[in-house]
Amino acid sequence: MPNASNVNYDFLFAGAGCAGLSLLYQMIGAGLLEGKRVLLVDADAKEANDRTWCFWEKERGPFEAIVHHRWQELHFFSPGFGRSLSIAPYFYKLIRGADFYRHCKAAAAPFPNIEFRQARVDEVFYDARGTGVRIGSERISADIVFSSLYDKPAPAPGVHWLLQHFKGRLIETPEPRFEPARATLMDFRIGQEEGTSFVYVLPFSEREALVEYTLFTGKLLEPAAYDRQLDSYISGTLGITDYTIRDDEFGVIPMTNHRFPQRHNRVVYLGTAGGRTKGSSGYTFRNVQRHSAAIVESLQRHGHPFNVAAPSPRFHFYDSVLLEILQKRSLEGADIFTDLFRKNDPRTVLRFLDNDTSLMEDVGIISSLPTLPFARAAVRQLF
Ligand SMILES: Cc1cc2nc3c(=O)[nH]c(=O)nc-3n(C[C@H](O)[C@H](O)[C@H](O)COP(=O)(O)OP(=O)(O)OC[C@H]3O[C@@H](n4cnc5c(N)ncnc54)[C@H](O)[C@@H]3O)c2cc1C
Repeated sequence: MPNASNVNYDFLFAGAGCAGLSLLYQMIGAGLLEGKRVLLVDADAKEANDRTWCFWEKERGPFEAIVHHRWQELHFFSPGFGRSLSIAPYFYKLIRGADFYRHCKAAAAPFPNIEFRQARVDEVFYDARGTGVRIGSERISADIVFSSLYDKPAPAPGVHWLLQHFKGRLIETPEPRFEPARATLMDFRIGQEEGTSFVYVLPFSEREALVEYTLFTGKLLEPAAYDRQLDSYISGTLGITDYTIRDDEFGVIPMTNHRFPQRHNRVVYLGTAGGRTKGSSGYTFRNVQRHSAAIVESLQRHGHPFNVAAPSPRFHFYDSVLLEILQKRSLEGADIFTDLFRKNDPRTVLRFLDNDTSLMEDVGIISSLPTLPFARAAVRQLF
């Protein structure tokens, strides 16, 4: 029989990564945690720089103080096409994971009522005996659980499941080789044999840049394949042969139209587990901040975190259509993104990718893409 902890927490966070810590940070900022018993449980110490987040926004965001670099000039390349994208008033911003974890924990440090525990959660429960988590044989109860733990759902008809996987290298050159004011958002001038594949280049100074090889495909590559592509891009396309690798990162993000549950009883799902990862692009960071702000508003207005809109059905439908096309390869991802950036104002494209455009703007964007394959995929998604 599991032991029941005799403490009942007001808020328990199962998972203290991007979504858990973002919500904690915004709840602290809104004064919602004073006098509350709060526990965050994560299997990891959350100290390593295990990922970097990029996103775009016009305004100062909640994590402006730790933005590592920002760009307003971006490049887009595909075979036979190149365009410089001026995105002002938007900034493309980058936050390092390690800075983010440190910053959020520092905000919580003055509060003795906020506890962190490093442990693996074996179960998030919501049953007749209450709501909480089980760690081994210990049951910990809470009034509200915010869970960012997820398992891959079982396959279902009409549900697409691609992976966005990438390997990045932070490289340093002895001579100035980069323009720190210009980043490459997408460069499709690489082999597309595996599926939609591109490289992005984020320069932090004239001698330092993060170069990341990214794929949207059904399965991972063998590890050496990522390195071969990076070697070839850095020496061939960038023309850089003399460099030192300062760091590297590898990541996998699900790209799916699966409808993640928003809550079960008093368990609220956050981040990827709450469907806040955009199905067709993997972008999550901005959605997580919006979701956190909506939960804070619900707590302030209603005294509970449940009055929050689910992800937009309209954009979920667009994501489903694009995922079907990418999965079946009825059009090449490189061609779709080339049309998007060739025929539209880049700021409108960014807003479209951020689920922020009006229906009229969507019609303009969608009509800039090959009509027939999109119409066929749309009909299949509808029926
Ligand atoms: C390498 C990488 C780079 C990315 N770059 C971008 C980007 O540039 N822009 C963007 O918008 N999105 C990006 N994403 C996607 C997304 O923003 C991140 O995956 C983000 O971290 C998702 O937030 P989350 O809180 O849902 O998950 P996580 O941040 O992964 O947090 C979940 C937490 O749960 C913990 N956990 C898991 N299982 C258990 C368990 N059983 N018990 C206890 N703890 C557990 C994990 O240790 C983790 O800390 C990236 C993802 C990766 C992997």
